[in-house]
Amino acid sequence: MDTILVVNAGSSSVKFQIFSVEGEGRLRRQIKGQMDGIGSRPRLRASGAIGESLAERAYPIEAVPDVPAAMAIAADWLRDEHRIQPIAVGHRVVHGGSEYEGPVLIDHGVLARLERFMGLAPLHQPHNLAPIRSILVKFPTLPQVACFDTAFHRTHAAVADHYAIPHQLHAEGVRRYGFHGLSYEYIAKTLRQVAPEIAPRRVIVAHLGSGASMCALKDGRSVESTMGFTALDGLPMGTRPGQLDPGVVLYLISEKGMSASNVQKLLYRDCGLKGLSGISNDMRELQASENPRAKLAIDYFVYRIGLSAGMLAAAMQGLDAFVFTAGIGENAVNIRGRVVEQLGWLGATLDPDLNGRNAQVISRSDSRIPVYVLPTDEELMIAQHTLSLLKSTPASTVKPARLS
Ligand code: ADP
Repeated sequence: MDTILVVNAGSSSVKFQIFSVEGEGRLRRQIKGQMDGIGSRPRLRASGAIGESLAERAYPIEAVPDVPAAMAIAADWLRDEHRIQPIAVGHRVVHGGSEYEGPVLIDHGVLARLERFMGLAPLHQPHNLAPIRSILVKFPTLPQVACFDTAFHRTHAAVADHYAIPHQLHAEGVRRYGFHGLSYEYIAKTLRQVAPEIAPRRVIVAHLGSGASMCALKDGRSVESTMGFTALDGLPMGTRPGQLDPGVVLYLISEKGMSASNVQKLLYRDCGLKGLSGISNDMRELQASENPRAKLAIDYFVYRIGLSAGMLAAAMQGLDAFVFTAGIGENAVNIRGRVVEQLGWLGATLDPDLNGRNAQVISRSDSRIPVYVLPTDEELMIAQHTLSLLKSTPASTVKPARLS
C-alpha cells in the first residue's frame, strides 16, 4: 500500500497522519497520531481510520529530548507495528515568506531558504523545519514537501500586503502575510463542491480554533485576512490578544521594564480568552463558567468577529456567504448563533434549529446570504499537495525511497 505521511511539528508535539493512496489518486486517512510532551512527559497516542485506539504509551523523558527524536519514534512505530513506509512526507510549515505561493519539494537549497524565515516565525518555523532536516539527512532520497500557512494569501493586492512603514522594512519581509492558509484553501475547495454557485462569489471564512482568523475569499482566492506579519493579529484567540495597539507593547517595555522575551511570552501565552477571563483558554470552560469575566471574554470574541466581518466585507464591497470552521466554528452552537446575529446587517438570518443540529447550512431559507458550517482538514490538504507535487515532478528529480 502506498502511503503519505503528513507531519505537523510544534514546540512540544509532533502530530502525524497517514493517508493511503487509492485509485485515481484518492486519499484515505488510515492513522492519526501524535507524540506530545516532548521534553516533559513524552507520550505516543494514535488512532485508526474509525477512531479506534492504536497506541497509548509513555516514554522516559531522556528518550524523547526533541522534535527529531519524537519523529523517529513515530516513524519506527509506523514501520514496525503497521508496516508503513511512506512514499513521501508532507510537512506543515508556517512560513513560506513572500517567496512561496504554493507547496514546494524540499532539497537542501529550499531548506536553507526556509531557515531564513525563522526570524519571521520564531516560535513555529524552527520546530516545523527540525523533522525536515533530520529526514533529509537520514533519508536523502525520500521526497518531502513543504506546505505553507502563508502561501494561500500570496494573492493579496499590494494594499492588503503592506503596513504603512518605511519601504525598506517591507522589502526585508515586514508584511501582512496572513496564516491558516491551508485551512482556507481546503474550505475554498470544499465550497466548490458543496455550493458551486457560491464558490466564485464573495465569501468570509471564520477559522475559529485555538488560533483564530478570518479570510475574505473572492472567486476562491484570498483577498484579505485578519492576520498579518505574525499569527498574533486580528481576532482574539485562546492565548493571543488579536488586534492590539503597538503602543501597548511600547508601554510594556518602557514603563513596565519587560524584556522582549517576556513580552513575547505574554502575547503568545497569556492573553486572549485566557488573559481576559483569567480562567481558561478553552471556549467550553468559559461557556460553562458563571464568572462575569468569562462572559466578557466570550462577548469580546463575538464582538471582534462581527467587527472583522465588516472590515472583510468592505474589502470585497459586499458579502454573498459566510462560513464557520475549526473547533469553535464547527462545534460551538451558541457562539455561532451570536455571531450570525452580528451579521444581520450584512443579510444573514439564523435558523436556530439547523444551527443546533450542526447542519451544513445554518441560515434560514429566506436569509439573503447563506451561512455554512464546513469542517476543515488541513492534513488532507497537505497530503493532496504532496501527492500532486510527487506526480507532477519528473521521475529523474524524485527517486522515491521509503522511510525505513
Ligand atoms: P487547534 O487545532 O487550533 O488547537 P481547534 O480547531 O481544535 O484548535 O479548536 C479548539 C477550540 O475549540 C477550543 O477553544 C475548544 O474549547 C473549542 N471547542 C471544541 N469543541 C467545542 C464545543 N463543543 N463547544 C465550544 N467550543 C468548542
